[in-house]
Amino acid sequence: MTQTTLLAIDQGTTSSRAIVFSDGGKILELQQKELKLHYPHKGWVEQNPEDIWNDTLQVCRSAVKNSAKIAAIGITNQRETTILWDRETGAPVYNAIVWQDRRTADLCARLKEQGDESAVRAKTGLLLDPYFSATKIAWILDNVKGARARAERGELAFGTVDSFLLWRLTGGKVHATDATNAARTVLFNIVEQKWDGDLLRLFDVPRSLLPEVKDNVAAFGVTELFGPKLTVGGMAGDQQAALIGQACFERGMVKSTYGTGCFALMNIGETFRESQNKLLTTPAYRFDGQTAYAIEGAIFSAGSAVQWLRDGLGLLEQAAQSEALATSVEDNNGVYFVPAFTGLGAPYWRPEARGLIAGFSRESTGAHIARAVLEAQAYQTLDLMAAMEGDGGHRPAVIRADGGLTANEFVCRFLADMVERPVEIPHVTETTAWGAACLAGLQAGVFDGPEDIARTWEAARRYQPSMTPEKRQELYGGWKNAVQMLL
Ligand code: ADP
Repeated sequence: MTQTTLLAIDQGTTSSRAIVFSDGGKILELQQKELKLHYPHKGWVEQNPEDIWNDTLQVCRSAVKNSAKIAAIGITNQRETTILWDRETGAPVYNAIVWQDRRTADLCARLKEQGDESAVRAKTGLLLDPYFSATKIAWILDNVKGARARAERGELAFGTVDSFLLWRLTGGKVHATDATNAARTVLFNIVEQKWDGDLLRLFDVPRSLLPEVKDNVAAFGVTELFGPKLTVGGMAGDQQAALIGQACFERGMVKSTYGTGCFALMNIGETFRESQNKLLTTPAYRFDGQTAYAIEGAIFSAGSAVQWLRDGLGLLEQAAQSEALATSVEDNNGVYFVPAFTGLGAPYWRPEARGLIAGFSRESTGAHIARAVLEAQAYQTLDLMAAMEGDGGHRPAVIRADGGLTANEFVCRFLADMVERPVEIPHVTETTAWGAACLAGLQAGVFDGPEDIARTWEAARRYQPSMTPEKRQELYGGWKNAVQMLL
């Protein structure tokens, strides 16, 4: 008997991937294509929507070729990236403006000066920042000839990447998104779960552009592009999908993803709360019309600091060698590294800050720097956890970690020591794609409910804290000093 499988589309910033999973989370097929980023001006970041689509189609076709019994498709995607297209022809009006793009910084600053941020925060849980979609939409409408007039005539559609892919997969039949992606536009009121008239006026975005917003599990649409009819049964933004893949369905559960940067999300339950520490509030997921919220915190430089050891300092040939180098010395010997390459995020919020190496002495070596870089992952997480716990009103019992850096056992162990609780690494390492597959599985009846997904979650590795409180205090104190020097 062939087993039931699920197809996950994981459309990320640097690559488009299609993964066929077994219903237990085993990867049966994985296809991937790198995606190009374009930098037409300083601070501008774009992608070609046709590349996004063609790559996605190609990886899906390759992945399903040898796969049988696909029950449904789940989509997860880079969030906030903005696409406008013609409803008649499906042709994009402009390139996709990627989340990293800063071209609307002045507009955001102007709105902030007008005093609009507190209302935005209370409705969306977000900040006034170019990161989010609304000002990107306004930019396209105001800078592409004729776009605003076409939008006002109802000829154009807006979507984040999930929505654009769904439109293309369904041959232009469905214009919809899910609550987690809608939440990243700053146009969606996450408390009332609806597009917000005041926000649409504030950002000057016509309502006719917007997709319908559905639960994360829904019959989004049907595609016939891969042979038999397949339903897109689940969609979620990448960080939320990772939270779902990590089965963080209870209040107080945390997932922390260590890739280029680090994103931590804590499930805070069904009541919206505004962060008091400049973190974001965002829907974790919406099932059967019921929203669970999360507090989200970002560390800008995580794995990128390891890349810098390799490419900037030439201390390593491969990221994985950082572990042997860091553990070739007994301790950090007083050396601390604050990886503020692109500013310091939560809870410091100093975008103008830059990196710092502190505590160097005559005996210090490259190994101490490597160690300081790896230790910094844990110090930064502890800073973030303190802020999140303040906001969420809950101390998580464990941290479920994933991402490339968690291959490094020293990082995992030191993280457990610093946060003084167990760190668990799941057996499904592709948590983001698995989260999308889980959503599709819920829609298709492969899973009966979140509890079913939680049952498939299993730790492949578990790290218990073992450091003495004195040692921990001393190390964390050293980090705090280094951050103070920088500030
Ligand atoms: P992204 O999804 O952001 O591209 P990944 O989750 O693939 O990131 O993680 C890649 C990052 O993890 C890179 O920055 C790399 O330097 C780092 N990395 C991968 N393996 C290790 C390792 N064994 N030790 C330390 N860092 C690692």
